[in-house]
Amino acid sequence: MSKRIFVIDVALCTGCDNCQLACKDEHCGNDFPPIALHQPDIGHFWMKLDEKVCGTVPKVKVNYTPVMCNHCDNPACAAAAKNGAVYKREDGFVIIDPEKAKGQKQIVDACPYGVVYWNEELDIPQKCTGCAHLLDNGYKVPRCVEVCPTECIKFGTEEELGYLIPGSTVMKPETGCKPNVYYRNVPGQFIAGTVYDPETNDVVIGASLRLITGGKRYAGTTDDFGDFWFRDLAIGRYDLYIDAEGYETAVFKDLDTTECLNLGDIALKKAVPKKAPWD
Ligand code: SF4
Ligand code: SF4
Ligand code: SF4
Repeated sequence: MSKRIFVIDVALCTGCDNCQLACKDEHCGNDFPPIALHQPDIGHFWMKLDEKVCGTVPKVKVNYTPVMCNHCDNPACAAAAKNGAVYKREDGFVIIDPEKAKGQKQIVDACPYGVVYWNEELDIPQKCTGCAHLLDNGYKVPRCVEVCPTECIKFGTEEELGYLIPGSTVMKPETGCKPNVYYRNVPGQFIAGTVYDPETNDVVIGASLRLITGGKRYAGTTDDFGDFWFRDLAIGRYDLYIDAEGYETAVFKDLDTTECLNLGDIALKKAVPKKAPWD
C-alpha cells in the first residue's frame, strides 16, 4: 500500500481554526477502538494552529502553521514505547494503541515535536491518528483536510503528492524521525521601517536601500508612505544602508533577524553641503 502524506501550504492558511475545531468535533467524546479513544474536551490539540506574531506595530505579520503528528518513518514515540504500543501502519499512519499504551507516559516525552498529549482520565498518551478510522471506512480524507476552506492541507499518497515535495520542508529534520508532514511556503524573516525627514516631518519617498549579508545584496526603495519591507529573509546578520538625495547615508550594522525586525521611524539627517576650497 502507498504511504500517505500531508502537504501543508502555509501561505494559504488564514488561521480560520476550522481544522482544529473539526479534529475536536471528530474525536472529543468519541471512541474509535482499536485506533483511538476519546480526546478530552480541553488540553489536547491533536491539530494545533500555531500563531506567530512577527515584528512590532505597525509593521506586523501574523503567520499561522497547522501542527500535527508527522506520522514519521522513524518515530521516536514508537522507539520509546513498550509492548509494541506504538506501531506504524502500512499506509504510513503511526498509531498509539490505547490498550497497550496504558500508563506509558514516556511516549509523550519521547516525541521531539510535542504532539503527544497525556489523557489523565484514561491514563494513556494520545495524538493525531490521521483519522485512520475514517479512511478504513471509505473516507478519502481526514476531517481537518475536509474542512479546510483554502485547501491549505493536502492529503494523499506519496505518488499523488510527490510533485509537491521538492521545495518543501519538514519540521526539525535533525531529529532523524523522517516526518511525513511537509510544509510549503514557510515565511522567512523581515526587516521593515519608515524613513522620514525630522525637520519637515514628511516621509522620504524613493530613498534607496541596500541590504547586505555575507556575499548577498538586496536592493529596495521606500514607497509613497516612506515604508520599506525586505521579506522572506533567512536568519542571519545584515547591514542596511539608506541613501536619499540631500541626506546623509543612514547605516544600521549587524541587524539580527532571529526575530523579524521593525526598525520603526528612521530620521534622515540633512547632508551638510560641501564647501568649495575658495569659499
Ligand atoms: S482550516 Fe485551513 S486555512 Fe483554516 S486554519 Fe486550518 S489549515 Fe489554516
Ligand atoms: S511526530 Fe512525534 S508522535 Fe508523531 S510519529 Fe513522529 S515522533 Fe511519533
Ligand atoms: S488527521 Fe484527524 S486526528 Fe489528525 S489532526 Fe486531522 S482531524 Fe485530527
